[in-house]
Amino acid sequence: MFKKILIANRGEIALRIQRACRELGVKAVMVYSEADRDAKYIKLADEAVCIGPAPSAQSYLNVPAIISAAEVTDAEAIHPGYGFLSENADFAERVEKSGFQFIGPTPDSIRTMGDKVSAKQAMIRAGVPCVPGSEGELPDDPVLIRRMAKAVGYPVIIKAAGGGGGRGMRVVHTEAALINAVAMTKAEAGAAFGNPAVYMEKFLQNPRHIEIQILADKHRNAVYLGERDCSMQRRHQKILEEAPAPGINRKLIERIGERCVAACKKIGYRGAGTFEFLYEDGEFYFIEMNTRVQVEHPVTELVTGIDVVRTQIMVAAGEKLPFTQRQIEVRGHAIECRVNAEDPYKFIPSPGRVTTWHAPGGPGVRVDSHVYTNYFVPPNYDSMIGKIIVHGDTREQAMARMRTALAETVVEGINTNIPLHRELMVDAKFMAGGTNIHYLEQWLDERRR
Ligand code: ADP
Repeated sequence: MFKKILIANRGEIALRIQRACRELGVKAVMVYSEADRDAKYIKLADEAVCIGPAPSAQSYLNVPAIISAAEVTDAEAIHPGYGFLSENADFAERVEKSGFQFIGPTPDSIRTMGDKVSAKQAMIRAGVPCVPGSEGELPDDPVLIRRMAKAVGYPVIIKAAGGGGGRGMRVVHTEAALINAVAMTKAEAGAAFGNPAVYMEKFLQNPRHIEIQILADKHRNAVYLGERDCSMQRRHQKILEEAPAPGINRKLIERIGERCVAACKKIGYRGAGTFEFLYEDGEFYFIEMNTRVQVEHPVTELVTGIDVVRTQIMVAAGEKLPFTQRQIEVRGHAIECRVNAEDPYKFIPSPGRVTTWHAPGGPGVRVDSHVYTNYFVPPNYDSMIGKIIVHGDTREQAMARMRTALAETVVEGINTNIPLHRELMVDAKFMAGGTNIHYLEQWLDERRR
């Protein structure tokens, strides 16, 4: 096992990884920007190094500063968390060339999966079902593009090969709008991701977002840890996740999980990863793979009893997966509510001083957050400030526990989306289970009327 790990991230996930290090008896080095200097999780670290001013470009994305922090502290490995540099293949390569272990897959795997076109091609080869569409990047010839759209059938969605975070996508309903939409998505993709390549998919009308968590070691062993339902989204951003996915036949999950495991073995994948699917009418369609730990990993941890972050560290150190597929059992039901510092209905970010932070507790309740009373939420980063996660024997019990947890939670000084979660937890359609990816936005529209 490593003696010391550098955590190249901030906020709740930095604290989550620090906790896993503690449990493994590994020293944790935190890096921080000037905006995070006073945070308690920085003070709790074994060592901490300032890597630059508040803007991410000068700190959490500052590769030379992070590498030198690892050098001066004698860290052996770097955990990238999620966001920031976690899916940057060049960073992973720099980390390994500098003699550190990158806690994640190989730079090659990250590169293949980071380009959605090459990811899709790899999945097709590995026998994972994909959304019908262009086999690869769209050509320049408008005649060919129109022909493809016609074959796929409208509506279609034009997506950036280098896209992420729900950006770089455009739905097209008619042939008249097609060529202009392709040109606009290309221009945006070039500007935002430095890669103008786009591809086409059939736009599924009412899918659910279902994803499969996998773990793989360096010895070609891989397992899947069941699924998560992340259909509650606004502008393609998840706000609430649960495991297992209500109402989906276990046999279907097993079949798709086995495909994901086979794909991992085929591409030589190692570490934690997530296969994201759209699910409609009993069919799964791969959309992308995330080559890192995800925000919503705790719901999987609560239903399987497996610590995803701890396992990431163990397999990076060369250990074998300590369990086989047969030993993995999904028990009960887990729900996660993301706590965002924002207006609950207008979604305007609300950074600032938290004057009161009272976290919930009790049986089956877990809070992953770096926040405390008097913490200052900096305006420079993502608005997510923590997660409330509950586990129950049944979905009903999990929802009841979440309602209690949300009622107990007090956050003052800033706005949060907790009132939104409180409403969703008593919404009849959510409670029935199985709502699709459009449900939250439709619900918000109706609420505004
Ligand atoms: P990102 O990497 O930006 O998150 P994804 O490919 O994962 O992009 O897609 C994000 C979301 O966009 C999906 O969860 C879904 O809501 C929507 N989406 C993507 N592709 C399609 C499609 N073919 N049909 C319908 N919705 C889609």
